Amino acid sequence: MARKFNFSAGPAMLPTAVIERAQQEMPDWNGSGMSVMEMSHRGKEFMSIATKAEQDLRDLMAIPDNYRVLFLQGGASSQFAMIPLNLLGDKAGADYLNTGMWSKKAIAEAKRYCAVHLAADTSEGGFTTVPTQASLTLNPDAAYVHYTPNETIGGVEFDYIPETGDVPLVADMSSTILSRPIDVSRFGMIYAGAQKNIGPAGLCIVIIREDLLGKAAANTPTMFNYAVHAENESMYNTPPTYGWYIAGLVFGWLKQRGGLEAMATVNKRKADKLYAVIDGSDFYASPVANNARSWMNVPFTLANPDLDAEFLKGAAERGLLTLKGHRSVGGMRASIYNAMPEEGVDALVAYMQEFESSR
Ligand code: PMP
Repeated sequence: MARKFNFSAGPAMLPTAVIERAQQEMPDWNGSGMSVMEMSHRGKEFMSIATKAEQDLRDLMAIPDNYRVLFLQGGASSQFAMIPLNLLGDKAGADYLNTGMWSKKAIAEAKRYCAVHLAADTSEGGFTTVPTQASLTLNPDAAYVHYTPNETIGGVEFDYIPETGDVPLVADMSSTILSRPIDVSRFGMIYAGAQKNIGPAGLCIVIIREDLLGKAAANTPTMFNYAVHAENESMYNTPPTYGWYIAGLVFGWLKQRGGLEAMATVNKRKADKLYAVIDGSDFYASPVANNARSWMNVPFTLANPDLDAEFLKGAAERGLLTLKGHRSVGGMRASIYNAMPEEGVDALVAYMQEFESSR
């Protein structure tokens, strides 16, 4: 099997061990005589897969008992509407931190359902910084505060968890979940599309504090109501069973590797290696402020953008794929989630140095 290093922002690499296990189990899961794709979601086999996946995620993230874990569909993008529909209650509006393309999308959708107050807005600086806690103009009467701890496109990551007092904090962790330990109790709700650090696309995980359930607006579609999914153990309808199963394999792999403390050590080392080569030369540059640099998505530019195509071509020849930056930022972006082996980063660093010295 010739596995390449895929630096895609998502869908992204999955651990090879997980792919191989899924391959081995595909035709006959655990003596059941069928693939997980073919099982009833209510049968005892799938129930055991589902329960174990949730328990492993709870263990990995130390999720307190008063939080529910939901395995949903519709991607992180559906949450952009579900959050105001479910969490507004009798409040007039919510606070949003505008720090990049994904928070911008969340804001645009929320505006369809409630008054949005921007408690921070870094758009003027081109979304290259994170706002300080002191600069946040939080409204104590907001229904919730929404932010994007890691902006996948800009490569901007918060180096702190905003303090929001009694107002629940809601975080789009799509591109940072499971990359390091976090204190779940600081959040009212965490959500993440799976296709970066969890599993295949099609699954979205929501971790929500129980007291926030049951306040959905009357016209909320049933499928958009968190309380309905919580009451039905994420089986109100047919859940994305295969994605749930693969996510469970990824959680098992993470536990085997030593959990999130161990992942944080490797992830920091991987990111440091890349930023070191970017900062150590005039040939490459990072657009992101030092304290806001993401461990997961590393955008960088070449001093001469005319060389971009050649850089990408040489990278692909070495099995280093999908390094082209997002069209809104340009340049390159290396997404280095949990499943990107450190050897992949080492290979990229070696190629970057080689490419620079060949100019
Ligand atoms: N939020 C963030 C931070 C993302 O990176 C993405 C996907 N790249 C989304 C939301 C949207 O996720 P989905 O495509 O699963 O709706």
